[in-house]
Amino acid sequence: MVPAPSNDRLAPYAAKDETSRGRGIPEPSPVYRGEYQRDRDRIVHSAAFRRLEYKTQVFVNHEGDMFRTRLTHSIEVAQIGRTIARILHLHEELTEGIALAHDLGHTPFGHAGQDALNECMAGHGGFEHNLQSLRVVDALEEKYAAFQGLNLTFETREGILKHCPPSKARELGALGERFLQARQPSLEAQVANLADEIAYNNHDVDDGLRASLISIDELREVSLFREQHDEVLRQWPGLPLRRAIHEVIRRMINRQVVDLVEVSQSAIRAYSPRDVDAVREAPVPLIRFGEGILEQHRELKRFLRNNLYRHYRVHRMSLKAQRIIRALFQAFTEDPRTLPPEFQAHTRDLEETHGDAGRSRAVADYIAGMTDRYAIMEYERVYNPTQLT
Ligand code: MG
Repeated sequence: MVPAPSNDRLAPYAAKDETSRGRGIPEPSPVYRGEYQRDRDRIVHSAAFRRLEYKTQVFVNHEGDMFRTRLTHSIEVAQIGRTIARILHLHEELTEGIALAHDLGHTPFGHAGQDALNECMAGHGGFEHNLQSLRVVDALEEKYAAFQGLNLTFETREGILKHCPPSKARELGALGERFLQARQPSLEAQVANLADEIAYNNHDVDDGLRASLISIDELREVSLFREQHDEVLRQWPGLPLRRAIHEVIRRMINRQVVDLVEVSQSAIRAYSPRDVDAVREAPVPLIRFGEGILEQHRELKRFLRNNLYRHYRVHRMSLKAQRIIRALFQAFTEDPRTLPPEFQAHTRDLEETHGDAGRSRAVADYIAGMTDRYAIMEYERVYNPTQLT
């Protein structure tokens, strides 16, 4: 066995390859790579990861080429997460792997799609994107000869599962325990989680401005934006708009990252966990924002909810998206023979073991895996008689 390159920089409380709780199906250690590096690589090579390119969060994929997709979002989360992990001497590749995988279970059309699919699945266990991300890496990716899914380490799976209701947690064994016992995940998971928030709040400002759904004047109500905007205007009066926006947003990200690093450093120092298990026992997450930034962060989130996510144009598109999801779900559950053959087989398998709930779950798996454009095309193929099937 060739040992993974040692990482002397890791703090005692970082997750470590050699103390990993391992994989569901034991495998020999990789050659020249660490365990979390291999997890990250498997995620990058997965089909679900490639589909993130054509899935969106706020805007639908065909609305414009300049908006974030779930792929570019995940890359931004990984970038912010790695920066923080490196400063705190945490495991960068574990943070990166969690960041790249965290949105794999999202439906097409962002939250509108997830809400519609969750409604369709009421009575059959519901649908939740975060649990679906875990389902993708645990079961739905079919690539490896020896196992279903990607057979990732406990720590990567722990990071992917950000939240989980108690009823589901009980089904998940060791992975679900922390939700029943109010414990924490690794610091790497905590970093990836807050890097996600930093990434989307800031890039939604950028995308919202680009789409002219929100304006600079409106955004100046938000203190986090106003402070950095004032600073950019003072330093660079007359800077063209596009550059000014980028300057403000990069400073907002930097402000939040620096605060997070400094506050987390002192929380870690005060608690001084001897290892990753001590991190898990901590009563509260040690990776956190300071009170001031937390309040500003909440103010920004409120602004985005009221002015962007509830904008009538976003809302119209959300309703269209939900109609598509509901219609697809209805057509496929009514007659699973309309599904592509591999999903007919998946549906038969789940139906055999779980009856109607299994049939619905298999259809939800198929729909959740779709990209925005594929869902629209599939809707046309299923419902429009003039379309080729
Ligand atoms: Mg995300």
